Amino acid sequence: MPVRRLVMVGPPGVGKGTQAKLISLRRRLPILATGDMLRSAVADKSDLGSKAADYMSRGELVPDDVIIEVVAERLKSTELSSGFLLDGFPRTVPQAQALDKKLSEAGLALDAVLALAAAPSVVIERIAGRLICPNCKSVYHESANPPREAGLCDVCSTPLIVREDDQPEAVRKRLEVYEESTAPLLEYYRSRGIVMEIDATGDVETVYARIEEALGK
Ligand code: ADP
Ligand code: AMP
Repeated sequence: MPVRRLVMVGPPGVGKGTQAKLISLRRRLPILATGDMLRSAVADKSDLGSKAADYMSRGELVPDDVIIEVVAERLKSTELSSGFLLDGFPRTVPQAQALDKKLSEAGLALDAVLALAAAPSVVIERIAGRLICPNCKSVYHESANPPREAGLCDVCSTPLIVREDDQPEAVRKRLEVYEESTAPLLEYYRSRGIVMEIDATGDVETVYARIEEALGK
C-alpha cells in the first residue's frame, strides 16, 4: 500500500515546505500548508487573518481552536480518503489528537510522520536567506536556491518578500515554541511507530532522496 496520509514535522526553516512541494508533485498528493493558509488570510484581512496576525508576527502559535477549525474545514472527505500531505499541522498534541479523531471517524489513520532534523546552525542559515513569493507561495533561498532573476518569482514574476516572522526576534521565539510545543508531538507519534526520521542536511534533492527511501513505493 502506498503511503498516502502524511504529516511533516520539524523546526522552522528545516525545509518542510520545500520537500512537501516535491513530494506533492511527484506523489500527486494535495498539500495543506497551514502557514501559507494563514499568511494568505492575513494578506486578505479576513476574519481568520485578524485572529492570527498578532500571534504570527510575534512568532507564537495561533490558538489550537482557531487552527483546528480551519483544518477541519479544508480537509474534506475526498482528501482524507485519497491522501494528503500536511505541512505545519499538527504543531501541538491537542492538534494531533483532533486530527486523529477526524481520521478515525472516517475509519482512517495517518500512514507516516516525516520528522525532518538539522543542526540549529543549518536551520538559522536557511531561515536567514529565505525569500517567498506572496502570490504563488514558492520558496527561495538567497544563495542555496536563488530565483533566476534577482528578487522575482520564477513561476509568476511577483516580487519576492522576506517573511515578517523571519526577523531574528520572531525566529528566536519560533525555535523556542518548537521545542516546547511541537517537539513533544514526535513522542506522541513515536509510540505508534509511524515516525520516519529524516536527516535534512545537504541539498534539496539529497534530502528528497532520503524521504523517498524512507517512504518506499
Ligand atoms: P520550513 O517549511 O521548514 O520552514 P522551507 O522549506 O521554507 O522550511 O525552507 C527554509 C529555507 O531553506 C528556504 O529559503 C529554502 O529555500 C531553504 N532550503 C530548504 N531546503 C534546503 C536544503 N536542503 N538546502 C539548502 N537550503 C534549503
Ligand atoms: P509556518 O509557515 O509553518 O512556519 O507557520 C508560520 C506561522 O503560522 C507560525 O509561526 C504560527 O504563528 C502560525 N501557524 C502555522 N501553522 C500553525 C499551527 N498548526 N498551529 C498554530 N499556529 C500555526
